[in-house]
Amino acid sequence: MFQKSKYTGGDRKPKYLTKLEQLPQLSQDEIHKLEPVNEQFIFRSNEYYQSLIDWDDPEDPIRRIVVPDVSELNEWGRLDASDEESYTVARGLEHKYDSTALLLVNEVCAAYCRFCFRKRLFMDDNDEVTKDISEGLAYIREHPEINNVLLTGGDPLIMSTSKLEPIIRQVREIDHVKIIRIGTKIPAFNPMRIYNDDSLRAMFEKYSTPEKRIYVMAHFNHPRELTEEAVRGLDFLLKSGAIVINQTPMIAGVNDDPEVLSDMMNKLSFMGVPPYYVFHCRPTLGNRPYTLPIEKAYEIFELARMRGSGLAKRARFVMSHATGKIEIIGLSAANIYFKYQRAAENKNSSRFMVYKRNPEAFWFDDYTDLVDDYTLEDERVQNREPVFDFEYA
Ligand code: SF4
Repeated sequence: MFQKSKYTGGDRKPKYLTKLEQLPQLSQDEIHKLEPVNEQFIFRSNEYYQSLIDWDDPEDPIRRIVVPDVSELNEWGRLDASDEESYTVARGLEHKYDSTALLLVNEVCAAYCRFCFRKRLFMDDNDEVTKDISEGLAYIREHPEINNVLLTGGDPLIMSTSKLEPIIRQVREIDHVKIIRIGTKIPAFNPMRIYNDDSLRAMFEKYSTPEKRIYVMAHFNHPRELTEEAVRGLDFLLKSGAIVINQTPMIAGVNDDPEVLSDMMNKLSFMGVPPYYVFHCRPTLGNRPYTLPIEKAYEIFELARMRGSGLAKRARFVMSHATGKIEIIGLSAANIYFKYQRAAENKNSSRFMVYKRNPEAFWFDDYTDLVDDYTLEDERVQNREPVFDFEYA
């Protein structure tokens, strides 16, 4: 079921590629046209990941993930589409939801996804990430409501285990932090980095304990990334005691096809890697070629879920909006239905909203005609008989 990649380096660390001239499959003319894109949104890949590309297909989905596209230069979107910077409370630390903090531990990935929502971090003048995370750790220590820390970036697993381990240890030492998550695309971009590192196994065995597990939030976008090597990397993580789940954005030309998306979600579920979130592609600067109208994307998502077992269809389709994580729940002939999964402000917690449909909408802000909404807070304000008599945060 899983194919070995064409990477010929065996267990050798794949070489990083940072110049378009290092892709012999591109003509001089193509390189010339893509250079301005590369100047704005930097290119980075590696030998292993490049070996997954079918160069006979100009629309190859793996190629779309890492090779620049001239339409990225279309003026569309914003660099920080979810206003992440406004939730930065200390250098390298974002605190948007009460119980969750994001620690940005670096600004490098094993390759750069063209549709990355954090592409601003790869730009020279960005200073949201710091190598010194002591300020971020101090903030977490002072905030007992934080029980869940996501290590992200960039990609934490691009760091050597000797650099990552002290970060994990220090977060583990904070008693009120119960869940540590590592957001990473290394299992797709460079699985050898995982299964060739016994110290990584030892790190998970030590810190992913029966009471408090470490979650690895993998990032597979397409079933062709699930090579024999990737399966081996995921198996290594699971056997080391990590819980592994997958989240992916829906990307035009990559996984905006029910067959493709369901194939990936099913295969991941067979391996014990449940699909968690499918994100609507954010309106990040340069992302026009990679995004889809929300209502079309929702239909693709539901058609994909229909092809999966219960275990494969646990994913939710959400937007990481500046105000919170908004799930797209359903459509009717006239309306679209949303619900906040996480909200930056308590007044929006679990808020359910019905808007008039807008087939041209690419983001939540494009819905302007609110038909109805409901929050638990409304229930209180209006003094209706509560369903349960409980306090909520
Ligand atoms: S792995 Fe994540 S952070 Fe890195 S380039 Fe891709 S989307 Fe961006």
